[in-house]
Amino acid sequence: NAKDAGRNAYRFVTREMGARSRERLDLEAALRRALQNRELFLVYQPQLRISDDLVVGVEALLRWRHPEAGLIMPNRFLPVAEETGLIQPIGDWVLDEVCAQIGRWRDQIGLAVPVAVNVSAQQFRDGQLPAKVAAALDRNGLQGWELEIEVTEGTLIDDIPSAIATLRALKQRGCLIALDDFGTGYSSLNYLHRFPIDKLKIDRSFIHDLEQDGAGDSIPRAIVGLGRSLGLSVVAEGVETEAQLQLLRSLKCESFQGYLFSRPVLAEELEPILALRAARGHHASKVEPMAR
Ligand code: C2E
Ligand code: MG
Ligand code: MG
Ligand code: MG
Repeated sequence: NAKDAGRNAYRFVTREMGARSRERLDLEAALRRALQNRELFLVYQPQLRISDDLVVGVEALLRWRHPEAGLIMPNRFLPVAEETGLIQPIGDWVLDEVCAQIGRWRDQIGLAVPVAVNVSAQQFRDGQLPAKVAAALDRNGLQGWELEIEVTEGTLIDDIPSAIATLRALKQRGCLIALDDFGTGYSSLNYLHRFPIDKLKIDRSFIHDLEQDGAGDSIPRAIVGLGRSLGLSVVAEGVETEAQLQLLRSLKCESFQGYLFSRPVLAEELEPILALRAARGHHASKVEPMAR
């Protein structure tokens, strides 16, 4: 009867929740150990200028090699890291590891393009970020432009005045700022021009849609136009096919990142490409006119 059905449904739900929170606790405990045990590592994905295929940037992405479960992707463990505050020590580690890698690349292969690091909302709002970034740069003897900070619209929107203050402090040290997953968050056209940013990253969902019949290119086209009128450079994420790249080229999108050219790979795997194809001194924050 209905009562039993209700009770069973309830039991089912609690059992499910129990399993899920147990799994979460396991993940949390394992994540706490992951840092000490050096199970976290970074992979790097190049960004290419569409006009000449030169590497004009690199994005660092976090990975977790769990001793039993194997490779765990950030979308699986970052939510737990954020809920538990573990994102703070993890974020600190990422920041220093990226800066150390930039220093090694600069010394070994003369890399002179910025390397981007993702920063979560909690890290950004913590108030310590500009000081931590400055310290990581100093520790590794880096100039500000060598590091690009990626944040999402959602991170900035909560408290716009303090977001602007944090961005200004980062820019003060010379860092570049990229707005990640652009177009998926809150529509921020009203105050976008108030944020001291350098780059828009078109979310990969829009790039994926480029190929779907009828979806069209209206959003990437609009973002490229927005970037041009605000003097921001525009990079397309998640480019997987030559057809997508061709469309982006026709839209005069400046650069792209995606499996078409390279998956995120270990630092040493990227070195031959960086040594050969990286643009020199590509740290200008403004779009250079595209070669036609
Ligand atoms: P994101 O910053 O937007 O990074 C782009 C994601 O797209 C990465 O997923 C990348 O591996 C993936 N990607 C790149 N090219 C392609 C492609 O051609 N096709 C497809 N399907 N995917 C592509 P990943 O590495 O799993 O990272 C997911 C998200 O986790 C990132 O999204 C970022 O928000 C977050 N994240 C990654 N590393 C860090 C980190 O060190 N700190 C923080 N706070 N967040 C991070
Ligand atoms: Mg990113
Ligand atoms: Mg993104
Ligand atoms: Mg993302």
